Amino acid sequence: MAQAETQTPQQEILKVTRNDLPLSCPRPGDAVADLHPRVYLPIEKSGTATCPYCGARYQLTD
Ligand SMILES: [Zn+2]
Repeated sequence: MAQAETQTPQQEILKVTRNDLPLSCPRPGDAVADLHPRVYLPIEKSGTATCPYCGARYQLTD
């Protein structure tokens, strides 16, 4: 692995289902629960959402 990837390291996209709605970040049980105040993300609109606090990316998979 001597060569660097041209792609910048991206944060892993967290997959969520409609069972997880309403989507909040941090999600219940997340280890980063003390990272920022819980915020609800309107993922139903576009199928994807990015947390404005920590930059976590979510994708709705169903
Ligand atoms: Zn977050």
